[in-house]
Amino acid sequence: MHNHVFGMRTANNMDLQDEMIRTCRLLFQKGLATSTSGNLSARVDDGIVLTATGVSLADVTEQNLARTDLAGNVSGSVRPTKELGLHLAIYNRHPDARVVIHVHPAHCIAVSAQMDLNREQFLPAITPQSVMRAGRVPVVPYFPPGSAELAQAVENCPARSAVALQNHGLVVFAAEFVKAIGILEEIEDNCRVRLLAGPSARTLTQGEIDLLLKRVM
Ligand SMILES: [Zn+2]
Repeated sequence: MHNHVFGMRTANNMDLQDEMIRTCRLLFQKGLATSTSGNLSARVDDGIVLTATGVSLADVTEQNLARTDLAGNVSGSVRPTKELGLHLAIYNRHPDARVVIHVHPAHCIAVSAQMDLNREQFLPAITPQSVMRAGRVPVVPYFPPGSAELAQAVENCPARSAVALQNHGLVVFAAEFVKAIGILEEIEDNCRVRLLAGPSARTLTQGEIDLLLKRVM
């Protein structure tokens, strides 16, 4: 089978795919993905290109990327990440999303695991930088990784640029990878500071958050 089976490979799509491969390596180098964890995708004209299951982000190349249509039907021989449903959920819910990153950042998971989701719906907002980049980040309850329930919860979740998955990780989406990395890093920094400061840390008030969001609109 030859690669032209998958339709048009425009210059724009190739740029996005190259950007995705660079982003995979960068996330691994930064320690935001370890072993074979973490997965990325990008929306191209005729479908979605995703990282493969079982491949470390350090080893992603053009040859081991998987491809599906927008319904998740795989074309070609590379099997996509087990979190395919999670990626499709974001693209279904957010028509402006062109790229999705899903990773398991330790501080973000730690903060989500401390939360009582019956009382709180968002990660605590500690740093103004995180609010300006990511807005308020909703948290969905724990469901097994790769499950249809998890994908459904994410699709139902109103979000601006990211959804935290309790006890599991984070999903970030944007129009381009450089933006998505910035959002991801600010959220992880926010959660690291929250853990450094401890449970009595002051969170930004709703008024302070509204003021920050007005500045970035
Ligand atoms: Zn995961």
